[in-house]
Amino acid sequence: MGPGPEPAPGRPPARERAIAGFAAAFGGHPTALVRSPARVNLIGEHTDYNDGFCLPVAVDRELWIALRPSPGDADDAIELVSEQEARAARVTLPPPDVPPPAAAQRRTTEGWAGYVEGTAVMLAAAHGPLAGWQGVVASDIPTGAGLSSSAALELAVAAACAHIAGLPWDALAMARLAHRAENEWVGAATGLLDQLACVSGVAGHALLVDCRHGTVEPVPLPAHVAVVVLDTSTRRRIVTSAYADRRVECARATRLLGVPALRDVGPSLLAEAAGRLDPVALARARHVVTENQRVLDVAAALRAGDVATAGALLTEGHRSIRDDFAVSSAELDAMVEAALAAPGCLGARMTGGGFAGCAAALVDRALLDAFAAAALDGYHAATGLTGSVLPCSAVAGTVAEPCPGVSSPGHDRQE
Ligand code: ADP
Ligand code: MG
Repeated sequence: MGPGPEPAPGRPPARERAIAGFAAAFGGHPTALVRSPARVNLIGEHTDYNDGFCLPVAVDRELWIALRPSPGDADDAIELVSEQEARAARVTLPPPDVPPPAAAQRRTTEGWAGYVEGTAVMLAAAHGPLAGWQGVVASDIPTGAGLSSSAALELAVAAACAHIAGLPWDALAMARLAHRAENEWVGAATGLLDQLACVSGVAGHALLVDCRHGTVEPVPLPAHVAVVVLDTSTRRRIVTSAYADRRVECARATRLLGVPALRDVGPSLLAEAAGRLDPVALARARHVVTENQRVLDVAAALRAGDVATAGALLTEGHRSIRDDFAVSSAELDAMVEAALAAPGCLGARMTGGGFAGCAAALVDRALLDAFAAAALDGYHAATGLTGSVLPCSAVAGTVAEPCPGVSSPGHDRQE
């Protein structure tokens, strides 16, 4: 399990920890730094694999890699150390001529190294040979909390590989590669939302994502409103959750409705065709169909500066995902109710795949402190658990850049 959402007081930021960790693990200085943000999904849950819409925000919880090209005798491998994992990931670079998914049958690593290897495999299959590098990961993104630490890691590895090999950086293409790594290599059946949000972040903006067309439109977040993450402190591993069941149920609804994807179903078609669906498929489809509309309505409301409407739609979205999609939990429900009862709250809902992790709220910035105290008290009173509150700012997406002001004789082959 990763660190909680609030880093320990006095703990240096992840960027500094990655640089210091690099010196400890490999000696000398890194030549490059990669920054990759977490994402919070404001609304649009379980719509991505139904070709629909979602509205994530890349936020200032970040994963950093400090890295350097491998020394000459080891340049066919990625050696990556993570401050939160006991075992380093050592990934032999894949031969570029083995296209996935044939390559996917050759998965060799378990645990977190699978994300590293999968990303390298997909990148090599698309772009040809990669060059080796060594690096250290430090992250302030809690894992398994619904903030998508896995996508941040994949995109950071992709950016590091691209930086070292001098590959062009095409955000959408990289998101698709990272998504394939997670689905086909790690074996987590997740949609493209995580990777797209992480790589496409724009400071001060939410991201209206059209998952069918892979397009991303920045939507300005009114400055007087904060996106607040509320961590229930409960965790569930997504790979072993009922996420895969929901995908099967959505696929069944899609088939019974005779459409390419639930994206193609409007509320009136759903009402007409309800009789063709079993009750479970109908409920799942109803969530997806109404959620797609809510995403578009929230984006329109934010653009118009109508934060009251945006907040009310978030809360409506929570009821839908709780009652029709059935992926909430007692703790997530308690956190949402506690948030809604707290001062300054415009709306709240669970965020992420569900069952555990975090909720997200839109909150009047002027009342943030009072909001946080009341929401956490309410949550504790209802569950006996200690949650945490993290006000977020929207930041830019994954990026690699040279590490400034550093020279490291003997190691920096490319300099
Ligand atoms: P989420 O993406 O919601 O945080 P996942 O279960 O999809 O949860 O991904 C979490 C996994 O990603 C971790 O168990 C670990 O394998 C990998 N991971 C994330 N961050 C790091 C990190 N800083 N160092 C090493 N592995 C990480
Ligand atoms: Mg994940």
